[in-house]
Formats: sequence, structure tokens, C-alpha cells
Amino acid sequence: MWKIILCTVMVTAEQTTFDDYKVFKINVTRNTQVELLNQMVKDPDHFSFWKEPSVNKQAELMIAPQKLSEFYELMAQIQAPYKVSIENVQTLINRTMTARAEKSKTLDFTKYHTLDTIYEYLDNLEKKYPSIVQTVVAGKSYEGREIKGVKISFKHNNPGVFFESGIHAREWIAPATVLYILDQLLTSIAESHNWYIFPVCNPDGYVYTHTTDRMWRKTRKPYGDDCCGIDPNRSLSEYIKSICDKFYIYLSFHSYSELLMFPYSYSKKYVSNYNDLVSKFNYKTNIVLRNL
Ligand SMILES: [Zn+2]
Repeated sequence: MWKIILCTVMVTAEQTTFDDYKVFKINVTRNTQVELLNQMVKDPDHFSFWKEPSVNKQAELMIAPQKLSEFYELMAQIQAPYKVSIENVQTLINRTMTARAEKSKTLDFTKYHTLDTIYEYLDNLEKKYPSIVQTVVAGKSYEGREIKGVKISFKHNNPGVFFESGIHAREWIAPATVLYILDQLLTSIAESHNWYIFPVCNPDGYVYTHTTDRMWRKTRKPYGDDCCGIDPNRSLSEYIKSICDKFYIYLSFHSYSELLMFPYSYSKKYVSNYNDLVSKFNYKTNIVLRNL
């Protein structure tokens, strides 16, 4: 009994908490405001942008309680209008933690699931649909976890679509959404395409958000003494390169900003096949939305 209580206390003690962290919406109108806000987030333990600042856009900034006075001083200095959008980040985190599913045979699509449960679900799909679903391990993470997905194929030469999510560890709604789409594909519209679906592309980070820090975003590989993880956004694994001639749509699911972004985000210029992307995406999303 004591052992159980001791373990519980230790796990709780190791969890990073965000009590009284606030999120502010800030109306940014000048480049100097952008620069000063960017300087502030060079202290990432206490400041974190949820939406990056840019001129004539609304930035969103999470701030630790002990740094609030510093923030208010800066706001007075740069005279940017702002308001609190989230009073206590930990309250929202608690809600997502209680929305986690208990272990069960079937996947409840209204809950968040652990990596083990997601991978077990993928394995079970292969057993349930052996001629259609094949599990694929695209690689291994720094901590040795498989990056597992599935290929769904009714016909060898079908055009391909690649879905991935979970690149950013804390964006739990993205893997949950992709798992739901995967389930729907198997019951309705999958036959016309081959589907490559990888719900958790950053498994170390995903596990870490369940065990230790709900707000963790990056991978878990250390770089030097005081830097852990990289943002793996848009990094292609060898597996993806090896099959890149087999799909014509690549969709990466994220959360929070409600944006549809085409490559390449280093430039504001349209990509050469912009119109093609718009028409294909409209066509495909209409089909998906009609069938969900
Ligand atoms: Zn993301």
C-alpha cells in the first residue's frame, strides 16, 4: 500500500504544471512591437507564443505567473492592446488529461489515447483486414520507439495519399482526428486510393506529454547540455522519400491555428502549382466532408 502511495506522489511530483499561466491575445500593429515581443520569448521557460506576432495580426502569448509584471511593463511601453484569453492554462490541461481513455479493446474516438493503445489499434486493424491493411514501421525514434503507421490498399496501382500527425507532441487532437479518419476510410471511401497513415510521427514527444509535460512540442533527442529536442516539422524520413512517387497528396495534421497551409512557408510567394493544390484540395475535402 505504501509503495503504491509513494509511486503516485513521485509521478505527480515529476509532472510539469502550468498553474496560473495565462494566455494573452495581443493586437500587433508595428514592427517594433514584433521585435520587442520576440525578445521577450528568448526566455522560453516563462514565455511561449501560441501564435507568433506579425504586423496587423493578433499574437497569442503564454506567460508564467512570476513574469506577469514584466509583461505588463512591456505592454505599457509598446502600447499594444491586449486581453486575457485563458486565465489558467492548467485548468485546460486538466480537462485534456481527464479526457484520456481507459485501456479497452475498441478505440473510443471521443477520447485521447496513449501511444501503446494507438499502436495496438493499428495492429488490430491489420488482423481484422489482412488483405487490405498492412502496418508499416517507417523508422525509430531517438528513444527507440517505432514510428508506426498503416498502408491501406484495395488495389495495387491506386493513386496514393499520405496522412501524418503527431509531429508536434502536445497537439493531441491531430492524432485523434487522423485515427477517426482512418476508421471512416475503412468503412466507406478507401477503395479508390492507397492510404499511408502515420498518426504519431513524434512518439517520444507524445509519450512525454502523457507522462511529464503536457505542453511539450518537440522530439526528445538532446542537443548539447541545455537543449532537448528539435521541431521535426517538415522533416522527411527515409521511408517517406522511398515512397514519394507513390502518393500525390501529403497532408500533415496539426492543431490550434485552423489554417490550411501549402508549402513552402519560408516564402509568401505562391508555389508554382498553387491553383492545382487549391482545386485538388477543394475536391478532396469535399469528398471527405461529405462522407464523414
Ligand atoms: Zn503543430
